[in-house]
Amino acid sequence: MIVITGATGQLGRLVVERLLATGTPARDIAAVVRTKEKAAGLAERGIELRIADYDAPETLAAAFRPGDRVLFVSGNAVGRRIPQHRAVVDAAKAAGVAQLAYTGVLGGPEADFELAADHKATEQAILDSGLPYTFLRNGWYTENYTDQLPAVLQHAAVVGNAGEGRIASAARADYAAAAVAVLTGEGHLGTAYELSGDTAWSLAEYAAEIARQSGKEIAYNKVPAETHRQILTGAGVPEHFAAILVDVDEAIGRGLLARGEGDLARLIGRPTTPLADTVAEALARL
Ligand code: NDP
Repeated sequence: MIVITGATGQLGRLVVERLLATGTPARDIAAVVRTKEKAAGLAERGIELRIADYDAPETLAAAFRPGDRVLFVSGNAVGRRIPQHRAVVDAAKAAGVAQLAYTGVLGGPEADFELAADHKATEQAILDSGLPYTFLRNGWYTENYTDQLPAVLQHAAVVGNAGEGRIASAARADYAAAAVAVLTGEGHLGTAYELSGDTAWSLAEYAAEIARQSGKEIAYNKVPAETHRQILTGAGVPEHFAAILVDVDEAIGRGLLARGEGDLARLIGRPTTPLADTVAEALARL
């Protein structure tokens, strides 16, 4: 069985779609979800639902079975993820899964920014478990940026403290295709993939691309970290999340999200989705 956690999330949904589109029968897929109602569409298509919550270890006992090939999608509750993720690893170990593929962060243990700490601890827990693993160290989703397009167009500016740092992002669908490749193919155990887009871009280039496609003037407001923090909190972003975003930009400025080994394109057998395509899709949706 191929088991997808976070199957009702944005990445998990794309993984399920791609599994089905590339020939994995629905009866060979199980979705680990915490809300049955949210997963109704998956059940209707014949996908087995296993209800479990990373916060409730006892519910995870039924999430995995011996021999399962599992995509463990990291949770989104920053600050709670280390105990959550340990519980998932413990359950996978107790079940005796055949593969635990985990969605971490580009750079793995070398990524020293705040958001990366949970991924580092999780990778270590997986190594300590002795389970057959695959690390999918995902770089940034391009959609992290294009989801903010309405605000960018409203203010005619991209704002950040990333300086001239470059971002080797790819579309979520690219990372989903990579996950499917390692879950359905062979030879991926004991491997860490550094997944990132083929072409890294700067926030200045991002602003220029939006300008080119929208026909509007869009500036890159390169600001110091503290100014960025104030702009974010002033716009209603909670303090702790603003601090995380500023910290990420600082890491981008140091080049931590720019690396590109080509693992993603190799795994999916095609070039990664260019920035321009994801911008175009986002503009078309507005
Ligand atoms: P989403 O927030 O769309 O999905 C997260 C998934 O995790 C959801 O299905 C959610 O369930 C599930 N989940 C969260 N908490 C629990 C829990 N306690 N028990 C069970 N399931 C839980 O994120 P994406 O799909 O876009 O991204 C996947 C992961 O990648 C994120 O969770 C985060 O760790 C990381 N990420 C990576 C980024 C990048 O640029 N590489 C950017 C942002 C996040 P439910 O559907 O019920 O909410």
